[in-house]
Amino acid sequence: MKKFRKIGVLTSGGDAPGMNAAVRAVTRAALARGVEVMGIYGGYRGMIDDDMIALTSREVSNKITLGGTFLYSDRCLEFKEESGMQKAIETLKRREIDGVVAIGGDGTFRGATDLSARGIPTIGIPGTIDNDITATDNTIGFDTAMQAVLENVDRLRDTCESHARCNVVEVMGRGAGDIALNTAIACGAVAAVIPECPFDEDGTIEKMIKLRREGKRNFIIIVSEGVDDHSERLAKKINDLTKKLSEDEKNPAMWIETKFCRLAHVVRGGSPTLSDRLLATKMGVRAVDELLAGKSDLVICEKAGEIITVDIAYSQVLDRMYKGTLKDGMIDKFNEDQINEMKRAIEIKKQQFADTYAIMNEVAG
Ligand code: ADP
Repeated sequence: MKKFRKIGVLTSGGDAPGMNAAVRAVTRAALARGVEVMGIYGGYRGMIDDDMIALTSREVSNKITLGGTFLYSDRCLEFKEESGMQKAIETLKRREIDGVVAIGGDGTFRGATDLSARGIPTIGIPGTIDNDITATDNTIGFDTAMQAVLENVDRLRDTCESHARCNVVEVMGRGAGDIALNTAIACGAVAAVIPECPFDEDGTIEKMIKLRREGKRNFIIIVSEGVDDHSERLAKKINDLTKKLSEDEKNPAMWIETKFCRLAHVVRGGSPTLSDRLLATKMGVRAVDELLAGKSDLVICEKAGEIITVDIAYSQVLDRMYKGTLKDGMIDKFNEDQINEMKRAIEIKKQQFADTYAIMNEVAG
């Protein structure tokens, strides 16, 4: 088996709280096994530009509490070109880096696959707040981002209650409604608008009017950014419609004054939660185990509380199948059992969404 002398670790794509905890775990696990670690700055850009630092145990001290990524992140387009990839590989060879752990999302894993195909063993760790990697139940940063939404929306709720207002809050998700749906429940929202489930807009407004007649003062609606331009339009519709209703009824209390708020990058920052630190640590250690055992082109996942590995190609096809973006020939290399397994996993995920959405609607009031 290949003897590892030195490995590289990088964070790439959108940053996520907990990435630092993962880098720390990778570093400490590798050092404990007698392998040196290089921290590569700015994702794949640092490979091309030879921008890296030797990570000692002390170098990763006090990093577990930090949000963002101390190795920085970049969207490096040059790495997608063969010339950029070759420069990156030359750097790795010159530096005697025998394998790489890449922490990021879907794009980062595509880069990892390209490296693996060119003889550099690479393992992926899912670090993205969006939780949009279907093969894993949870991605690093997802829990912290939800906690940040919760804290901010609780503040909005205070002022909504004082002024008898509604706030339509748009949260990040990049086409995935995981953050929006879970936080809608936890924030006591009256509705969630997510790409995975149909939204009954008129029914929701009717419900809000009924609740206002019963004396409800504050309303929160959480909208996932994956649902195009919905938030501002919805806020205006609720505002204008209820204003007219209040004028028609000569009852000022029936106006649900509605504001729009986009939390945007606020929820990407901050100290990672306990869950994210734990997940990042378990995944980081497992990534090193797999790499040193001679494995490559895998993504570390969490399924039903267990840390498992999944082929990156499998994970990517599963994502595409889930999002309905499969292209011709993409599933040809998988056998019937694997395809059926993917279909089952997708059915389960869709059912979980539908069940959680039903719970959210049942308790909203
Ligand atoms: P994320 O990892 O969060 O999905 P990106 O899609 O921006 O974020 O991808 C992160 C980086 O991964 C890109 O900047 C690029 O360097 C690399 N990357 C993305 N797609 C590919 C690809 N098809 N081939 C090689 N590298 C890629």
